[in-house]
Amino acid sequence: MTDITVIGSNMIDLITYLDRMPVEGETIEAPSFEMGFGGKGANQAVAAARLGSDVAMITMVGNDEFGKQQLQNFKTNQINTAGVGIGSCSSGTAPIFVDPTSDNRILIIKGANAELTPAVLDQHQDLIRQTKLIVLQQEVPLETNYHAIDLAQQFGIPVLLNPAPANRELNVDYVSKVQFFTPNETELATLTGMPTTNLMEIEAAAQHLISRGVSNIIVTVGSKGALWVTVNGSQLIPGQHVHAVDTTGAGDSFIGSFAHYFAAGEPIPVALRHANEYASVTVTRYGTQKSYPTLAELDQVQT
Ligand code: ADP
Repeated sequence: MTDITVIGSNMIDLITYLDRMPVEGETIEAPSFEMGFGGKGANQAVAAARLGSDVAMITMVGNDEFGKQQLQNFKTNQINTAGVGIGSCSSGTAPIFVDPTSDNRILIIKGANAELTPAVLDQHQDLIRQTKLIVLQQEVPLETNYHAIDLAQQFGIPVLLNPAPANRELNVDYVSKVQFFTPNETELATLTGMPTTNLMEIEAAAQHLISRGVSNIIVTVGSKGALWVTVNGSQLIPGQHVHAVDTTGAGDSFIGSFAHYFAAGEPIPVALRHANEYASVTVTRYGTQKSYPTLAELDQVQT
């Protein structure tokens, strides 16, 4: 039995810091380069595991050096790797170019993440059956998520679906089968076609999905925190006031920590408050996974 099974992506972030973006046909020197572990699924799994949850990951790494490093990173973070498969192509990678104004250009090469098919899930039904919560994002094929939702429903396991990156093709009939649907403002706008520039508009867009049968919508709204919307109305769980230096991966840290506290039995508003606290610490540090504190580090920051 695990607390959380994350079904999703893993990526290697290849970050080049530039003085300026090269123009077409130009070769320039860049001052520095950094590699990082990423992918929304892996990020969320790492956040929950660092807080102390028993986490299993169902994902595909590539048949290359990056795949080996990714597998090792899961192990280092005490994540159960029984559901980590080795694909036939390269690992998922994200070359990222950042200029001094923090403007960035990002390429996503899905690689082995595209090989996480419904058939792969069938090989790991035990990890889906024996868990308290299933967590999904959208960097793997949509039909894999649909199959995960069907299996979870069959086994009576709650599902959190984080619709990132946004995909207009997402079938709302499936969304109405999950317990938690967690878009950010932009993803909510893409999905509903409605404006989400302020809290009133966000609530209206979320209520539109509630009217179609979705039960709990949690919209992350950056420094403002998170808006929890149900058929009974909405509640803003306010964010923490911190000096943010890098918000990359904040959304994933929020989801991973919410999953941890919910699976640990906390009521939804309490789990959301903890998730805001956790994510607020990650934005005060540079990097994605490397900005995610362990439970011990979190206690230290909070005292
Ligand atoms: P995403 O990264 O998906 O766009 P958000 O920007 O909404 O997600 O951030 C996710 C969560 O991270 C927020 O709900 C909040 O808890 C926290 N957060 C993000 N930015 C800040 C900030 N500047 N100050 C404090 N907390 C923040």
